[in-house]
Amino acid sequence: MTQSRSATWMLPAALLAGLLAGAAGGAAAGGHVAAGVAIVAVAEIVLLLSRLRHGTRNTMASMPDTPLLRHDRFMHRSRRLASNLHDLRSAAASLPDAIVLLDQQQRVRWFNHAAESLLGLRRPHDRNAFLQARLHGSELANWLQGDSSHPLHDIAAPGQPSRHINVEMLPFGHHQHLLLARDISHLTRLEQIRRDFVANVSHELRTPLTVIHGYLELLDPEDVPDLAPVLGEMRTQSRRMGQIVEDLLTLSRLETQNTVSDERVPMASLLATLRKEAEAISQGRHRIVLDATAHVDLLGSPKDLHSALSNLVSNAVRYTPADGTITIRWERTPDGALYSVNDTGFGIPADHLARLTERFYRVSSSRSRDSGGTGLGLSIVKHVLNLHQGRLEIHSTPGQGSTFACRFGKERLLPEHTGEDDFPPDFPDTP
Ligand code: ADP
Repeated sequence: MTQSRSATWMLPAALLAGLLAGAAGGAAAGGHVAAGVAIVAVAEIVLLLSRLRHGTRNTMASMPDTPLLRHDRFMHRSRRLASNLHDLRSAAASLPDAIVLLDQQQRVRWFNHAAESLLGLRRPHDRNAFLQARLHGSELANWLQGDSSHPLHDIAAPGQPSRHINVEMLPFGHHQHLLLARDISHLTRLEQIRRDFVANVSHELRTPLTVIHGYLELLDPEDVPDLAPVLGEMRTQSRRMGQIVEDLLTLSRLETQNTVSDERVPMASLLATLRKEAEAISQGRHRIVLDATAHVDLLGSPKDLHSALSNLVSNAVRYTPADGTITIRWERTPDGALYSVNDTGFGIPADHLARLTERFYRVSSSRSRDSGGTGLGLSIVKHVLNLHQGRLEIHSTPGQGSTFACRFGKERLLPEHTGEDDFPPDFPDTP
């Protein structure tokens, strides 16, 4: 308080002193002014120092608005901004995710510590390096060269191949980009543990279930007429459990696979088999139509494609009341070919569609169980299609029916092979 008061009387005092000094020296009018200005400046500095030492926001607001004060405010703001910037940089530098700031030509402008360990960038010589050239040969470089607007999932980190990362490119500032790479190794490990657990449990259950099922089959209901209905139910449930275990093992295998065999899948014979399967499940309750106009074969895994395409047929029959129609189509599209199964069944409300390919997701659990479903069929379909770079599309109207369509790209098509001797169908006749 005493300090700021002493600062307030210093300005007029200094002014007075300046004028007195000018008058005493007998200087010209210009000299008076110059001396006055100089003293005012000194006074301002004294005031500023005083404010810097003890001043508050209020003291500053109450001060006269002079060029020096404005300069001081500017410097103060600049220092605060520089300090904030420094804090932000330090925070970004120590984030566990790798961050690389790229210019319009994808040259490295800045990167944090995690980018050094995960992406293998080095300071200072990687500053201004072209990121794609710097990471040449890695999956990340290929992604940077192509369409990097879609995130890249679960790849080996170029700087530490034992670690897994997800990468994303975000627009930033003026034509700049931020490349973010998140270390997901712990998630990948957890996912691997989950997968192994499911696979091991399924595998362990297989043998006891086979034994139980075998004994149940040996029992003749006529020998135990009182238990005949119970025996029938036990057989149905043990078969269902067996199917769940088989589907879980199939899913585990598909999940760990990155590629599929590139074999010819003769579509004419596969479609004929699918039709027979539909008729076998339907037992004459539905009209089954086959409409194959594509005249191309598929390239991929015959066993997996059969399993996926047959799942859709089986679902169509199981979720369509008697007298409905099931239409299996195989047609060409501008981008490749489309396999679809259309039914006139129960249909699916729109809010369920996005979740249908999740394991054990059912629109109606009782309907699925009653029809012998495991809740894993569409999950298997999705995995098989992913392995063949295909896509599943679902259209449905409750009460009217559904269409499940598999889109295959041109790279998966082969001209139809008609030499039956060379390519005998290796698909089972019945499911
Ligand atoms: P599920 O073994 O239960 O049939 P899926 O994974 O094959 O398991 O299908 C998941 C769920 O999707 C089914 O429980 C059913 O509710 C629904 N669904 C699948 N296909 C059809 C269809 N053609 N019509 C109506 N609902 C269907």
